[in-house]
Amino acid sequence: MRVTLLGTGSADGWPNPWCDCPSCAWARETGTCRAQTGVLVDDALLIDAGPDVPRSAARFGLSLGQLRHLVVGHAHPDHLGPEALMWRSWTTAADRPLDVVGPPAVLDVIGAFLARWEGRELGAPGTPLRPLAAVAGRPVRLGGPDGYLLAPVPAAHGDSSIGPAVLYDLTGPDGARLLYACDTGPLPAGTVDALAGRAFDVALVEENNGDRPGFGEHLDLETFAATVAALRANGALVDHSTVVAVHLSHRNPPGPELARRLAASGVDLLPDGTVLDVTAGTRAVVARPRTTPVGQRG
Ligand SMILES: [Zn+2]
Ligand SMILES: [Zn+2]
Ligand SMILES: [Zn+2]
Repeated sequence: MRVTLLGTGSADGWPNPWCDCPSCAWARETGTCRAQTGVLVDDALLIDAGPDVPRSAARFGLSLGQLRHLVVGHAHPDHLGPEALMWRSWTTAADRPLDVVGPPAVLDVIGAFLARWEGRELGAPGTPLRPLAAVAGRPVRLGGPDGYLLAPVPAAHGDSSIGPAVLYDLTGPDGARLLYACDTGPLPAGTVDALAGRAFDVALVEENNGDRPGFGEHLDLETFAATVAALRANGALVDHSTVVAVHLSHRNPPGPELARRLAASGVDLLPDGTVLDVTAGTRAVVARPRTTPVGQRG
């Protein structure tokens, strides 16, 4: 499994372009830019598609033309920009089948957008988009028996009007396992239990709030550390697991301090564009961004 971090930032990204706080000033001075969180798996499956995410793929020189499964965890606008499906409909990929997977509120948002702007119904016969409901406790197979196994588990994030929000336990065709834990507050007990013994090769865990707790249902540095510890204690994470903090905002301290704090939990701080080459049961090989972002070449 190849995991490409298209974005590792919060809803507003880091730096937030409107903000002059020390954390944003540091990010600007060092050229560190984290776009909305989204992850591309094997060029075939995308988890989360906020408005930043398709552009991030373009900036890293990647095509989304081979995408077969679009997976969204909840209907907050930093995770779901339905307009991407309109931009797709103007391309060489327009007629290729695409699974659109998410909780009911996600499918509602996409359906309303397509009805308003394209006069088409999500999932209408003869159209390429195939809606699939993501419901906690009901794993779905994507891409046939040799494809992906996607198991939604409950998040602690918002109410049913945005979901109900789920996190994803994804097993690739090669048996590699990815945990996508974004967005969530401290995990519900049932979710911790559902993840026990999974020995994820890679876990992407949100850490939105840094040292400034109290913003929505998210993790801060303290609850993040406790969450990672709980997942290590029950075998969801094991010695070879690569754990990466994502959904990072300016509520966090500047990078070197943040890296030091995360390292105390054995967690990596990686830049947007990082590629992880994952073989089941072994430590992922981490490569720096595969290209210079196109926009920085001038
Ligand atoms: Zn979010
Ligand atoms: Zn700021
Ligand atoms: Zn959210």
